[in-house]
Amino acid sequence: MRRYIVVLSVLLTALSMSNCKNETKREPNPFFEEWTTPYGVPPFDRIRAYHYEPAFERAMSLHNEEIAAIVANPEPATFENTLAEMDRSGRMLSDVSNIFSMMCAAETSEELMALEGKIMPLLAGHSDAILMNEALFERVKAVYDSRLSRDLTPEQIRLSELVYDNFVRSGALLDEQQKSRLKQINEELSAATVHFSNNILAENNNYKLVLSKSDVERLPASVRDAARVKGSEMGYDNKYVFTLHQPSLIPFLTYSSDRKLREEIYRAYINRGNNDNEYDNKQIINDMIRLRTEKAQMLGYNSYAEYVTSKQMSGSPKAVYSLLEEIWTPALNRAKEELADMITLYSEEHEGNKDFASWDWWYYAEKVRQKRYSLNEEHVRSFFSLDNVRQGVFNLANRLYGITFRPISVPLYHKEVSAFEVLDADESHLGVLYFDFHPRAGKGQGAWCGYFREQSYDKEGKRTAPVVSIVCNFTRPSESTPSLLSLDEVTTLFHEFGHALHFLFTDVPYSGLINVEGDFVELPSQILENWAFEPEMLKTYAVHHRTKEVIRDAMIERIRRSTLFNQGFATTELLAAALSDMDIHSTTKYEPIDVDGFEYNSLYERRGMIPQIEPRYHYTYFAHIFAGGYSAGYYFYIWAEVLDKDAFEAFRESGDLFDRRTAARFREEVLSKGGSADGMSLYTAFRGAAPDKTGLLKARGLWVEPEPEETDTERDTDGEEPEQEPIGRLSNEE
Ligand SMILES: [Zn+2]
Repeated sequence: MRRYIVVLSVLLTALSMSNCKNETKREPNPFFEEWTTPYGVPPFDRIRAYHYEPAFERAMSLHNEEIAAIVANPEPATFENTLAEMDRSGRMLSDVSNIFSMMCAAETSEELMALEGKIMPLLAGHSDAILMNEALFERVKAVYDSRLSRDLTPEQIRLSELVYDNFVRSGALLDEQQKSRLKQINEELSAATVHFSNNILAENNNYKLVLSKSDVERLPASVRDAARVKGSEMGYDNKYVFTLHQPSLIPFLTYSSDRKLREEIYRAYINRGNNDNEYDNKQIINDMIRLRTEKAQMLGYNSYAEYVTSKQMSGSPKAVYSLLEEIWTPALNRAKEELADMITLYSEEHEGNKDFASWDWWYYAEKVRQKRYSLNEEHVRSFFSLDNVRQGVFNLANRLYGITFRPISVPLYHKEVSAFEVLDADESHLGVLYFDFHPRAGKGQGAWCGYFREQSYDKEGKRTAPVVSIVCNFTRPSESTPSLLSLDEVTTLFHEFGHALHFLFTDVPYSGLINVEGDFVELPSQILENWAFEPEMLKTYAVHHRTKEVIRDAMIERIRRSTLFNQGFATTELLAAALSDMDIHSTTKYEPIDVDGFEYNSLYERRGMIPQIEPRYHYTYFAHIFAGGYSAGYYFYIWAEVLDKDAFEAFRESGDLFDRRTAARFREEVLSKGGSADGMSLYTAFRGAAPDKTGLLKARGLWVEPEPEETDTERDTDGEEPEQEPIGRLSNEE
């Protein structure tokens, strides 16, 4: 989900002049009209690429007028005449921005991409100008300073704090000289970010593994076919090409029996940005850590990690470390057990040698997995047709919350998209939900959930309902077979549907209260994943698409056990990346960093990581933290997993996974609240205590060795593991 923060005052004359040509040939701009579509959804049938630029231009200038009017108000600043007015301002801009960014992700074109490059800096400038508007800040500060003595609701106090904080974190309290230094730092950082990701792009594109038929004969047909398609796209006839992109790399590492080739491609992957060539990222990393540390200290924090976490649910690096390090040891111990299993197999195939390396992990893990769980992916898929899984999530939402989904006919941006009206238990309108399931040119990779319109209230208290969309890249149906999902894809649909429920249920009086902290965002999505493979749930939707046979207990059990497989590895590589991110952003006094040495010291020397596992990302291609929104935030995923596993326990404890009362409390205390209180307060209001970490360890199979013959599962969960330290609750104190 992307959202542009609003505020501004630049008149975009250059933009408006460039738009005057050819106006006569063009259709009227729907962004300039009141929409008469059903439920007020965007009139996609009438929106053309050339409508966006004038729409942005008008939306920004309207926003500027609104801000100017707030500043010009002769009355003393009040919550209503300043913060509430600011909150309602820029609505056209957020509508245009939401639709534009959703289209850039799901249905882009050369035209939209070019426009994106032009619009993004303008939006950033628009936002900066508002955050640096001193007269506006004075009014915000006046309300903030007296927020506790005014007669404000808790939501109004919270909004005052969030807005004030946003100004301060953007430098509003600095003197002129510091402000100009901060501006310079921000510019240098944004240039470094672009440079960093361009280097990775170049390194990705500069490598390919070109193979001939005899090299790929033993790979699964689907992997071979994908490599051949890639080859012909790149102009190689009858060749098979593998690249450093995950969907190409991982299947190769998993299935290729050629150890030399596995080593070659894996080394190319982990050395990206670290080849001492023109695309090397080591100096850029140094520059970024130096600049980020300076920025954090200018704003009153010891380190960049402190600056970032102070605004998150965790509150401090200490709380983050405490979680990561608690899970580290059990994860690493499990990974060592997994390694021991694989080394046995490896050494049988290599004349007793034990020189197992990191590029062998996927290949031998797959061998062990097949041997132990004999789970045939193709057979499993036939129980998960897309229609059944979607009906499954609808039924789940209905059982938990009483809501229903009604297909509707509205303008769509592509004929494959479908739309539903979502009705609350009392049949009132909750919002609109679109699904856009299959890959096509112009759609980004992966899956996401976002909105075309956010929920809002106008001055008279009338609510505008959200318009939400789930976008995926699931296998397309063929003439004979419906779209059949893999277990990963099933999880993805539950996950994205969880985000959608969050957006649909959010009911907050101010738009500025919609967003939640970064380490809280994945709670509503990840919690839904917990239902996907529960036997009770599977029986309601996992039905063979042809025979209509309901999934059997034996297969359910194999699915359950296979999800625990290789979790030591998965957890260790994830934690390693989260730890190395926190470590480098905890710098308090910048001195030139030997990037490789720093990481080696942090993971292998200090924390005993085993050389057969690489962190999920090495610094030189860790785009999440050097070119994305996860700096000192790669831990978000695992933090939210503690929340979702513990929250799901509440349903288990009720004795009914579909317990309406627990669901009603989860909706009331968490899903409907947006960010109207901090995450820890929302969570404890629901659960009665801070989140307990044991649920996460159990779910990842790190709590106790599951003994298959053990029937008393209660005893398992009591966990009398001698070497296991007592695991506590998440804490954001101190
Ligand atoms: Zn998510």
